[in-house]
Amino acid sequence: MRNLREILEKKKALLTGHFLLSSGLHSPNYVQCALALSDTALARQLGRALAEKWKGPKPDIIVSPAMGGIIIGHETAAAMKLPFYFTERENGEMTLRRGFKIEKGRKVLIVEDVFTTGKSTLETARALKKSKAKVIGALSIVNRMGKRRLPLKNSSLIKIDIKTFSPEKCPLCKQGIPAVKPGSRK
Ligand SMILES: [Zn+2]
Repeated sequence: MRNLREILEKKKALLTGHFLLSSGLHSPNYVQCALALSDTALARQLGRALAEKWKGPKPDIIVSPAMGGIIIGHETAAAMKLPFYFTERENGEMTLRRGFKIEKGRKVLIVEDVFTTGKSTLETARALKKSKAKVIGALSIVNRMGKRRLPLKNSSLIKIDIKTFSPEKCPLCKQGIPAVKPGSRK
């Protein structure tokens, strides 16, 4: 998709400033895809773009981890004319609930909004392997994993390098710029 970075900035899904991340680290950037996906036409377009981006074997089903992956996973599944399931945490463990069942050997493609650490993708893959599904890869709108790699075939619409700093080493703190918790009212 062309100009995706500009689109994300316009939707305030990609912010520039001084942010206090949930990890405790500070960053000059913040990604919040929900704001881009709140535009239903854009969500549809992003789903189509991800469906076209996938170059692997044809999946039987799309699965996303809740909450972040649900909208884009659904749109990607709709573009590929496939069913859509989601995993969610139950007592801390990622699981398929709500009667979602995947038959043994079914090819599953995982769709996320953002690859950050890869943790939710891998937890979803693990949950799917329990039902003997075959995880064929993963897609996301944004990849902000930096040098880290996911140990499965994957592709993203945009790679964004997001620098993070410990509070002691944060250059923005040194400039006296107040850090903002993203998503908070202020
Ligand atoms: Zn800082």
